[in-house]
Amino acid sequence: MHKLTLSVRPPLADIRSLYDGFDAPISAFDCGQKCAPYNPSGKPFCCDICQAVPAVYQEEWNYLQKNTDLWHKWRGDECGEKQDEQSGMMAETPDNMLLLACLGPAKCQRPFRALSCRQFPFFPYVTSDYRFIGMAYDWEFEKVCWVVSNLGVVTETYRQQFVQTHDRLFAFSQEAFDSYHLHSERMRAHYANLRCRIALLHRNGGYYLLSPGSERLARVDVERLPQFGPYKLG
Ligand code: SF4
Ligand code: SF4
Repeated sequence: MHKLTLSVRPPLADIRSLYDGFDAPISAFDCGQKCAPYNPSGKPFCCDICQAVPAVYQEEWNYLQKNTDLWHKWRGDECGEKQDEQSGMMAETPDNMLLLACLGPAKCQRPFRALSCRQFPFFPYVTSDYRFIGMAYDWEFEKVCWVVSNLGVVTETYRQQFVQTHDRLFAFSQEAFDSYHLHSERMRAHYANLRCRIALLHRNGGYYLLSPGSERLARVDVERLPQFGPYKLG
């Protein structure tokens, strides 16, 4: 998955606890089977290192390298990218985060998925007046992630765990909260430019469309939310 822009420093002892509290699958079935047929590699997009590079906190890496052989530091040559592209990605990575690569979906070890695996394709949406109100999806994956076009499959358990986990993170990291505030601001600018509203899975359990300028929320039926790319019906 693409790099997270936040930085947060959970105590090392809490990493297992954070993972255990955010373990529910996103939907009742394997959504990877829905998107993989559209990826030339045949892998789910979010588990294909050629499509998205996971970023983890330094504290996660400390925990993971002691407990599993699933991950290694991203070398940048896994897909044969040009060296200057690799350098750019390295340069954009915050100091307290690392880019990793895993053994791939056929050898995934679910208990050792990174937080970025667990939250994909969502990030915590923070309003301009500093309220974490729910989940928004990362727009860069709009056309490849099947879940984005089928938000109704996201389970209530997953949504609750997502909210609780980020409430925990924000309780001990103002830096993380501020990073997501900035990321949400970027999203509003992007959608304002497109003259489109932002789909939001509110922490209250509802589905909404958010106007990027006014941040006014309109509750909608999930069936009315837009679909993209090959997942667009009709
Ligand atoms: S979260 Fe999206 S990209 Fe990842 S496996 Fe599911 S549908 Fe595919
Ligand atoms: S650890 Fe598992 S869920 Fe995360 S990117 Fe690798 S295969 Fe996908």
